Amino acid sequence: MAGPASSEADAIAVSLGAVTKVYDNGVAALGPLDLDVKRGEFISLLGPSGCGKSTALRLIAGLTAPSSGVVGVSQRTNETRAGYSIGFVFQEPTLMPWASVRDNVRLPLKLGHVPMAEADPRVEEALAQVGLSEFAAAYPRELSGGMKMRVSLARALVTNPGILLMDEPFAALDEITRFRLNNDLLALWRKLNMTIVFVTHSVFESVYLSQRVVVMSSRPGRISAEFRIDTPEPRVEEFRMSASYAAYCREVSNALMPSYSGLVGA
Ligand code: ADP
Repeated sequence: MAGPASSEADAIAVSLGAVTKVYDNGVAALGPLDLDVKRGEFISLLGPSGCGKSTALRLIAGLTAPSSGVVGVSQRTNETRAGYSIGFVFQEPTLMPWASVRDNVRLPLKLGHVPMAEADPRVEEALAQVGLSEFAAAYPRELSGGMKMRVSLARALVTNPGILLMDEPFAALDEITRFRLNNDLLALWRKLNMTIVFVTHSVFESVYLSQRVVVMSSRPGRISAEFRIDTPEPRVEEFRMSASYAAYCREVSNALMPSYSGLVGA
């Protein structure tokens, strides 16, 4: 995908070229949309409900095909930790209630026929990455909402994804739990060298997490504005209280406002 002249740091992980999506029922959900995501970048897609954010993620994941345009996902990797696969984390943790935390996390490896001897340490590592080693034998009903989301995250991490797609994963959580998961996600992103495309309708969350916020217009979703969030790394909780965070949130909010005009209830 990336040309031979491009440096490793600038390699493109995901590329959407004039992509549109019209569903079979005639709903024009998306586009045309042009978006390049660099390898290792953390971007958020921000927009009102129904503007096509999930559709964009499903197109990147190959779960649905574009009506026109080109979706490119890099199959290249380098010596860093991140691998080839795509991980997907949904808003609902969608855990198997009859299976332990460990077996829920093991599922993608089981479906991929990864031998037990190889799968076991990967499952334990993924559980450790999300801080759930002690709960490996627990069942989903014994866990809080935040812990269930951690299991869902571990289930995505166990395949060692190069690209992690996240569809409003923390939207249903209380604020403090959400803040903790935000920080843990940032730490994992730094450690594992993943490319993350994060969907949210929260201005505050998008600015806190991402290097780039892509604002989408209402359906059919297109890019209406983009913001680079420039702040010293590593980003930590103090950023949430800073003047620059407030200023970014104000700017992004102002850009988002027109996307809500004409929406019922907005
Ligand atoms: P968002 O994630 O921004 O809330 P979606 O991508 O889920 O938006 O949906 C965009 C639009 O496409 C919505 O109007 C939704 O009702 C419609 N839509 C989503 N999936 C389908 C589908 N499988 N069939 C028909 N319409 C759909």
